[in-house]
Amino acid sequence: MNRKQGCLTSVVIWGVFESVALTLWLTKDNLFYLLNFSYIGISIALGLFLFQLNYKHARRIVQLLVGLYMLIYLGLICQENMQIEGFWYYLFTGVFEAATIHYSVAKIFGPLIFGRGWCGFACWTAMVLDFLPYKVPLSPRKKIGFIRYITFTLSLLFVLTLFLSQVGNIERIMFWAFIIGNVVYYAIGIILAFVFKDNRAFCKYICPITVFLKPMSYFALFKVKCDKEKCIACGKCKKVCPMNVDVTDNSRKRKNGTECILCMECKKACPKEAL
Ligand code: SF4
Ligand code: SF4
Ligand code: SF4
Repeated sequence: MNRKQGCLTSVVIWGVFESVALTLWLTKDNLFYLLNFSYIGISIALGLFLFQLNYKHARRIVQLLVGLYMLIYLGLICQENMQIEGFWYYLFTGVFEAATIHYSVAKIFGPLIFGRGWCGFACWTAMVLDFLPYKVPLSPRKKIGFIRYITFTLSLLFVLTLFLSQVGNIERIMFWAFIIGNVVYYAIGIILAFVFKDNRAFCKYICPITVFLKPMSYFALFKVKCDKEKCIACGKCKKVCPMNVDVTDNSRKRKNGTECILCMECKKACPKEAL
């Protein structure tokens, strides 16, 4: 992706978020949606723009802008459970609000356009994990990715049980589930990062959201591509990739292709500007 394409991408991403913001504001008659999605869209577009200017902390700025907003403002202050349990909760109540909208845009249908950009630029779990020392994994990938299906099923069963047992004050339980769930995610994520010497071990093996993200991002419109004419097969891009993606293979079936979080570390490392 050259600089012109990069700027175009940031405008397109901003346009997508602004369209969602306007549509939801007008259809749901709620100003919150306009402010919420405009803020997220502008934050991401700003990060992409700064990246084009070669500002090295561009991605981290977006992670903090969006991640802290969702964790502190939406989660703790507005008391919306934006984790996967919150998504199931709103889905079961039949309400197209907060977490269901967030999941639809960022994690289910959005990845058809921007792949796992959420994971690289906005996730509040990864926002913390990316501060840890193992930005480039120091151990080979493990074959334990099946754990994500267990955590996915457990999250579903947890909310289903609450509904079927008709417990009272379910909103309060969901709020505490958000707090406890985040503490558990951070604890497991940090421990795994040190055990596997890999900041993104939690993303690779545990995160239940990848059950949505991976298949949808397979069809992503935007992905990092390699210009074979320029590539000298030096392997530097693969060495710095936090997700072990075979980025020089342009096919959709490339190794770990659905793991790409669009962090652009490979692009920064390429001596030939082939990515
Ligand atoms: S895989 Fe999960 S924890 Fe990791 S960045 Fe994506 S959503 Fe966040
Ligand atoms: S380094 Fe490149 S291939 Fe690897 S996750 Fe980041 S953008 Fe994707
Ligand atoms: S770093 Fe660039 S030149 Fe080297 S293998 Fe990757 S794409 Fe090719």
